[in-house]
Amino acid sequence: MSLDWMLSAVCAGVDPELWHGAGGTLTKAKKICAACPVRPQCEAYGRELEGSAALKDRHGVWGGTDAKARARRRKQSRPAKADRDAQILRLTEHGVSPKEIAELVGVTDRTVHRVKNTTERSAA
Ligand code: SF4
Repeated sequence: MSLDWMLSAVCAGVDPELWHGAGGTLTKAKKICAACPVRPQCEAYGRELEGSAALKDRHGVWGGTDAKARARRRKQSRPAKADRDAQILRLTEHGVSPKEIAELVGVTDRTVHRVKNTTERSAA
């Protein structure tokens, strides 16, 4: 991901602690983010970091959203459990490996095995 968008960040030159502090400072940061032209790119980058090993950047405000708001959005954007399980079973029937299914569906290998095992047990 190119980070050129950061050159247009409204927060450039502002104390970064505002975006990683607690309580009231995050509210200030969100107000600044509201006027930022690269807010969508920044929020996407924040979500990408949360999926990486860059744990120190998991918290704080990215694109005007704090960690709790991002967690809520992730939860809302996940397919419902029944849809997800059906997707896992369809992919299994098509011979896709559990590891590939886990990557495609966004779950762990363990979840793929659990869904397959539960279905096999109920069919027996
Ligand atoms: S959205 Fe907020 S944190 Fe992101 S670049 Fe803009 S001002 Fe900075």
